[in-house]
Amino acid sequence: MTGSSSAPCEALPVWYGKRARDLPWRRTRDPYAVWVSEIMLQQTQVSTVIPHYIRWLETFPDLHALSRAPEDAVLKAWQGLGYYRRARWLHMAARRIMEQHHGMFPTSLDEIQALPGIGRSTAGAIASICFEIPAPVLDGNVRRVLHRWTGKDAMADRELWRLAQAYIDNSDDPGTWNQAMMELGATVCTPKAPKCDACPVHGHCASAGRRDLSEKERGRRKRTRPIDLHWRVHLHLDPNRGLWLVKRPDQGIWSGLWSPPITEMEPTARAQPDHVHLLTHRRLHLYASLEADPPEQQVEGAWVHTTVRHALPTGIVQLLRRRRLLDADGQRIHATGASS
Ligand code: SF4
Repeated sequence: MTGSSSAPCEALPVWYGKRARDLPWRRTRDPYAVWVSEIMLQQTQVSTVIPHYIRWLETFPDLHALSRAPEDAVLKAWQGLGYYRRARWLHMAARRIMEQHHGMFPTSLDEIQALPGIGRSTAGAIASICFEIPAPVLDGNVRRVLHRWTGKDAMADRELWRLAQAYIDNSDDPGTWNQAMMELGATVCTPKAPKCDACPVHGHCASAGRRDLSEKERGRRKRTRPIDLHWRVHLHLDPNRGLWLVKRPDQGIWSGLWSPPITEMEPTARAQPDHVHLLTHRRLHLYASLEADPPEQQVEGAWVHTTVRHALPTGIVQLLRRRRLLDADGQRIHATGASS
């Protein structure tokens, strides 16, 4: 590090005040809205989150509305964001807040962190932005910025948290500080080609101007090959009743979502998948199979003409679109439009 931990505490918030992107969740300090945005942003890009965030707040404007909603409605509202576990956590936490906190969002760091799906970093974001508690955020962006400031190749988590806490203790406004750190990592100190010339804390950073940064960091990252799965997607179509969907099991990939029945299959050289869908550690090869026989009806299922009330995984939506079974808006089923 080329300066003290107080040096960027002046420059960075000033830069943030002038250059921060105008994002909808930055116009509020309502903990419910900030919490929803933080959870949505965990594994999804800002541009994807914006319309979902706006629609979510229209559908579930507050904790009361979310806690009263059935799970299917919550999953449907999440459709398109992926990692549905996050939607279940929001739902579960909203119900817990209603039961244990009389419907008021908790105001202490420990209570916030005790809610389902809220880790230390997300709790820090909510606590600092909404309640001015000096608790740091340590997401991927902030980690990268701290690594670069120190110029150290490796730092243990404990050291990173200690450093993040030291900076926030030196700041006058913890919420602005945390948001400025995240914004710096997202827009200036980016993984590839950081814009050091435009960086407000250039003079404080041990890595400023180094051209080898991204290559070096890429080399440190472990690469894991995704596991290939081959799934047959059984399409039972009926011009009068629509498409047969079943609810996926509570555990495993796409748990709790709705989909045509799926069975695993052995890949063959002759069969080409209709769609290949990537998950974090899995590559799903999806093969559409038009079925003449009626579906097995022991499992929870429904004939549908529209997907308005059912949350479908993105991979299935894409597969149905490819087979021209879904409208462009992704909702109306064309039960007679299957192409072989
Ligand atoms: S000077 Fe460059 S490497 Fe350092 S924090 Fe700024 S953008 Fe990142």
